[in-house]
Amino acid sequence: MTINVFQPQLGDRELAAVAEVFRSNWLGHGPRTKAFEAAFAAHIGVGAEHAVFVNSGSTGLFMAMELLGVGAGDEVVLPSISFVAAGNAIGVTGARAVFCDVDPRTLNPTAEDVEAALTPRTKAVVVLHYGGYPGDIERIARLCRERGVALVEDAACAVASRVDGRACGTFGDIAMWSFDAMKVLVTGDGGMLYVRDPELARRARSLAYHGLEQTSGFVKAKVSHRWWELNVREYARRQIGNDLTAAIGLVQLDRLPEFLKRRAEVADHYDRELAGVPGLRTPPPLPAGHDTSYYFYWVQMDPAIRDAVAADLLEAGIYTTFRYPPLHRVPAYGSDAVLPNAERASDETLCLPLHQGLSHEDVDRVVTELRESVGSKLS
Ligand SMILES: *Cc1c(COP(=O)(O)O)cnc(C)c1O
Repeated sequence: MTINVFQPQLGDRELAAVAEVFRSNWLGHGPRTKAFEAAFAAHIGVGAEHAVFVNSGSTGLFMAMELLGVGAGDEVVLPSISFVAAGNAIGVTGARAVFCDVDPRTLNPTAEDVEAALTPRTKAVVVLHYGGYPGDIERIARLCRERGVALVEDAACAVASRVDGRACGTFGDIAMWSFDAMKVLVTGDGGMLYVRDPELARRARSLAYHGLEQTSGFVKAKVSHRWWELNVREYARRQIGNDLTAAIGLVQLDRLPEFLKRRAEVADHYDRELAGVPGLRTPPPLPAGHDTSYYFYWVQMDPAIRDAVAADLLEAGIYTTFRYPPLHRVPAYGSDAVLPNAERASDETLCLPLHQGLSHEDVDRVVTELRESVGSKLS
């Protein structure tokens, strides 16, 4: 049996929640969507009016750029080690994506990395939390405030990440989480958008549903005796979540502590068994006060052996990967940046299987095969 690198965990409770939606005969945006928004908002410690359930995390990134009015002539700074959706969300506006370097061990940008890429044209900064590690988010948020630049947190990896109890995603102006099939908390497809400014949050809700003035899509209040009348505030797409995926999300959110507990055990086991293995580096320890979501567990090794080690593991039925290949090397983004840390990290980093469905035997197998493979390459 192949050991997957990421894998969701869904069961009878999610199935029962979906069955209930079937019986209610209301699959669209409705009471469960509202409940999921409220529950997620409580989870990150904000009011429900700031959370908008949308159809994917990527949608959230595109909406963030739209909400901030990013356009031609603007620059948006982001770490090169980012998911393509961030690059595309910037590119589609006509703005220029300006890639910054990262810390070679955490693969998160430092405040200095971000600062070095700021110019008078910088309209926004988009940072993620690599593998769930919060990173330098407090200092980056302070830097952005000082410079009057908007901060967007791509919190797709950071569903339960915190700094001194404060949820990642709430440090900036806008954030999004992803619940796609490979994340910690999954709904199939889905994402949550957080918008700090209440007026902008109202606009986000409208933007998610045709730009209609009556924003929720689940129209209860009749504007007049002709309840079918409408007004369009701006041209917009249909990007809302629905009650079917929200119902799954509500159960998954409830199970999140259980998922994190198992993921932490797996990560601790890797730490114990892999620390000190010649030729291998484990992730740096989390700073005091930081909580991770344990989304990735990554190891680093000599670039000369990394690909061969990945191939050995695949041969042994263990799937590994590298996230996220540096965007400044993707021709579509037209970057000529030279970012030595991002480049080195992308050649020496490998993400090992980490999910809540891994058994002790699975984890032992990964450890044994990895040690053996690295050992054989070094001798
Ligand atoms: C998964 C992911 C996204 C995209 O989310 P989708 O819900 O798949 O659109 C964006 N950023 C990061 C860092 C991700 O890991």
